[in-house]
Amino acid sequence: MTLSPRQIESRFDWAGLPAVAARVIQHAIDIQQIPAPTFDEARRAAFVKARFEALGLEQVYVDELHNVYGCLRGIEPTRSAVLLSAHTDTVFEAATDLTIRRETDLIYGPGLGDNSIGVAGLICLAEMLQERHLTPARDLWFVANTREEGLGDLGGMKAVIERLRGRISCVINVEGMAFGHVYHAGIAVRRLHITASAEGGHSWLNFGRPSAIHGIVQLGAKLTTLQPASTPRTTYNIGLIDGGTSINTIASNASLWLDLRSEDAGALANLERQARSHIEASITPELRFSVEVVGDRPAGSIPHNHLLVQIALGSLDGLGVKGTLETGSTDANVPLSQGIPAVTVGITRGGNAHRLDEYIETAAVGQGMRHLFGVVMATAEAQI
Ligand SMILES: [Zn+2]
Repeated sequence: MTLSPRQIESRFDWAGLPAVAARVIQHAIDIQQIPAPTFDEARRAAFVKARFEALGLEQVYVDELHNVYGCLRGIEPTRSAVLLSAHTDTVFEAATDLTIRRETDLIYGPGLGDNSIGVAGLICLAEMLQERHLTPARDLWFVANTREEGLGDLGGMKAVIERLRGRISCVINVEGMAFGHVYHAGIAVRRLHITASAEGGHSWLNFGRPSAIHGIVQLGAKLTTLQPASTPRTTYNIGLIDGGTSINTIASNASLWLDLRSEDAGALANLERQARSHIEASITPELRFSVEVVGDRPAGSIPHNHLLVQIALGSLDGLGVKGTLETGSTDANVPLSQGIPAVTVGITRGGNAHRLDEYIETAAVGQGMRHLFGVVMATAEAQI
């Protein structure tokens, strides 16, 4: 028999909840203060590893990508485990001023919500279980993974799933500011870096020669006429353009970065084909184009009525919060694309993700921890 998150929660003494919330926030700040740009997460990984070891998790391990693993033994260790994950990397470069600022019940700080508080939630959940001697029905793997943001291409989670394949049967992924939302579908993403190259020359003396910049902006103009399907939702964005050396030089090099997304892998492939046909048509003997795939995030989903989704929604319901179902690109894409059920849930609310004025709401953190606790413990009981 599967217990609901509500029934599971009722076993717990929530009188200590404000103290738990305060600890989550303090951990989140401690983590946020350690710079962790994508591909440079080693220092943050060392912090998490020390916490996992102090908590007595088993098989604590850091892999070559700085993913940190720790296992909490369950009542039935022969059953396949539940994986709990949260990414450590941020979109902010190492030199970013990480000073936090408090304003009534908000705390501002780059990366605090995305995803320091997610990682803090994982650590504090393990702490709660250990302190109160609560044993989950089966093993829980706690993993603070890397390479979720930017050009990380979910590389951390890809390695985690590779390593734990066969030992886990479902994934609960935590994105700090997603409280109230349940991501059950991972959209597919393809990212192309398109480079134009030409001979170049002097803007006056060699006028008439092909320019890599002119070629790239002409291609860009064609790409903005792409008509992606609205159902399944499919989108494109030219996010960056660079190139050239000076105002009076015919550019020999220029490039643009194209991000393509869809709820459906087929629709995405179709959009990429259209983009590539514009690229092919732009090539001349004097103006060359090359394409490098710099991002490939696979799609996958579980239906609304999947038990894992129902547990997550039921947990929110029990807390008096109307949960909303979401599709998006998170670390859960990786297990979902491989047929492993996964949801992404949150710890609190917040805003301005990926901006220097990112903030979290402190008032929701207690609720968020009850939610995480309920979802994790109910999932451990369930046959998923
Ligand atoms: Zn995130």
